Amino acid sequence: MIEKLKKLQDKEINQDFIKTQILDLKTKKETISFIDASPQRLEILKGILKKHDQKLSQLDDKNVNSVEKLKVVEQKYEENIQVKELEVAYQKANSLKEQISKLENEQISVMEEKEGVEKEIEQQEDEIKSQKRIYEEQLKGLNTNLTELNVTGKKEKKEIEVLRQEIPVDILARYEKLKHKLKLPVIINIKDGYCTACGMEQPSYTGKQKLKTCVNCSRIFNV
Ligand SMILES: [Zn+2]
Repeated sequence: MIEKLKKLQDKEINQDFIKTQILDLKTKKETISFIDASPQRLEILKGILKKHDQKLSQLDDKNVNSVEKLKVVEQKYEENIQVKELEVAYQKANSLKEQISKLENEQISVMEEKEGVEKEIEQQEDEIKSQKRIYEEQLKGLNTNLTELNVTGKKEKKEIEVLRQEIPVDILARYEKLKHKLKLPVIINIKDGYCTACGMEQPSYTGKQKLKTCVNCSRIFNV
């Protein structure tokens, strides 16, 4: 009978362990969360990109404007035969050409800056994606463990019920009483005549008791 009682105790201890593990996993599930790489940085970068686009559009307008002015001046230049006016037009054309060249250089530099910002945005988005992947994997793992524990817990619970039915009522009642008074385990070993739980020396047993118990702490000996 003691074997069955010991088996029951082992299963009940295991059941407690499973419950603790389930709780632990649930807490872990609550605490892991999707860590955003840096959405703030991403927002800033997107703002910068917008400004670059605006700047490029402004530069484009200015350029078109200058090119048109140049056309007008060049036309005048061709039509004009007066030397003095010709010179003025020539100078104006030169200054406009210079302005156009400057605008074009500025456009190139803004475009380069824009490229840099776009690259950084891409990196940030990749980082967020990889963080999300890690989070999802962790969550999947936790859910798998949780499912496994629940299955094992249910199986063990059924086995405990079967065992309880197989153990005589009076013995089971004694076990339960001890369990509530003391913490598990209540079925323990006796070593060289001493209780391994409380350390009390035990008298040699005589007679045919169903269960041998400690004279001091009342725990049941696994003999
Ligand atoms: Zn004892």
